[in-house]
Parts: sequence; C-alpha cells; structure tokens
Amino acid sequence: MNSSLHAAPMSISACTSPLSAVTMRQLNTFIETEIEPDTEYNQSCNFAVDRLCYFMQNNFPYQLRPSKIQKIGLLEKGTAVKGKSDADLVVFLATFHTVSELSQKLASILDTIKLYLFTYDECDITGTTSYAVKVSLPCDDHSHNVDILSSVNILETMSKEDIYEEMASGSSSYTREYYSAALVPLQIQFVSSFTAKVKTLILLMKYWRKTDFEESTGTLRLPSSYLLELIVYGEWERAGSPNDFDLRKGFYHVLTAVANYKTLSTYWTQPIHLTTL
Ligand SMILES: [Zn+2]
Repeated sequence: MNSSLHAAPMSISACTSPLSAVTMRQLNTFIETEIEPDTEYNQSCNFAVDRLCYFMQNNFPYQLRPSKIQKIGLLEKGTAVKGKSDADLVVFLATFHTVSELSQKLASILDTIKLYLFTYDECDITGTTSYAVKVSLPCDDHSHNVDILSSVNILETMSKEDIYEEMASGSSSYTREYYSAALVPLQIQFVSSFTAKVKTLILLMKYWRKTDFEESTGTLRLPSSYLLELIVYGEWERAGSPNDFDLRKGFYHVLTAVANYKTLSTYWTQPIHLTTL
C-alpha cells in the first residue's frame, strides 16, 4: 500500500502551510462534519432540483421538450460538497438531433428557456452565458447555483467512435465546444468510477475553491468542478494510483499542481474505463 500521493518523497512537516499542523484525525473529522453531505441534506437538495426538472419537463414548449434532463454536481458523482454544491442540468432536447443544428439555434433556445424560467417562482435567474442560463435555487438554509444547459442526446443515436470522428473532422472546428454538454453522461460515468479516497480529495479541493474565493471573480476564471476532478485524478495516477494515501499530502500536492498550472498537462489516450451506457 502506497501512503504517499507525491511523486517525490516529501514530508508534510516540511512545508510552511498551516496544513502541516493538522492531524489526520482533525482533517477526517472536519471532512465528516463540514464537507461531506449527509443523507437528509442530500434528499432536500435533490428535492429542490427535482422540482425544477419537473417544471421544465412539463412547462417548456414543444420545440424545447426535454427527452431527458441530466443532473450533474449533486449526488451523481459522489463529489458534492455540503451546502456549497452547484449543479448543472443538461436538458436534452427531443426535437434537435445534431450538435451543428443545436449550435446554430442555441442563443434563441437559451432566450426561450429564460422566458419560461421567469414564470417559475422557486428560482431566480442570475445570468446567461453562451451555453447556459444561470439560476439561483433556494434550498433550506442555503441556495445552489444551477447552470441550465441544452444539448442533443447524440450518445443515444451515435456510437462513441462516430462522435469522436465527427468532433475531429474539420467541419466541426467551430462547433467542437458544443459537444461538452452532450458528453456529460460520460463525465459522470468516469468520475463515479473514482475510488472513495480520490473522491474525498476532490471534495476537499472543491471546498477550498468554494470557500477561499469570492463568489464572483470577475474576468478571472476559477477551474470548473470537472477540471478539478480531472486534475485530482491525473495527479493521483501520476503518483502511482495508490489505494490509500495521506489526504494532507494529497491536498498539498494537488494545490501545488494547480498553483503551477502552466506546466500542468494531463491526457488520457484510452477511452476512459467506459463500458456501454
Ligand atoms: Zn440544497
């Protein structure tokens, strides 16, 4: 069993961070009480998101009729942080079939989604991006930032090989970024397969991202949740994929990797442990 998550030998006591004064027991207690969502919490958060999904499924006009709504960020991957978890909802549209068709109409689709969400009393629209309508969803004593994206369910109509071929073709050089939402089920499957210890380290990273920065960072962009998940997983693999490791060292190591983001480079050449969806 490898107890280190640092490629080079390194003592936690060698760094000057206050993290060096934290014992494993203290860190575990902190994670259990402050970060890991409990069952009751999970149920109430999912209930709020489910109500929003129900509204979209039953009130959107025919041309925006969802064939499926995929939730990301709450319970789906086991990496949601208590009281601080944001969620993405990917609305797969039943009447659109190709990414290129969707990309041409996305601006007007998002405008229409916004119009309909204005009529839903239980969320506040906080903005729009090129890909999503952003809402704030009140839930007990906290609220969730939810991005509502729309996409096409190409994973049901095309093989993964055909999708990758289409993305690689010259004709999709302007639409490649629109595939991200369409491939979200693969993201979820990938992150769900991570070990419990890696997921705990991801929780810690997400907690840091949520608590150490202002909600709005202006033009500076913080890494997305999925990017943090990939960075943690990539660094864990680089350290030899240990079954168990010292979370303090892991946390320090991943923070260091993020701080040195200009040299960060991780890629996978194999389709990532994907079984059939
Ligand atoms: Zn909640």
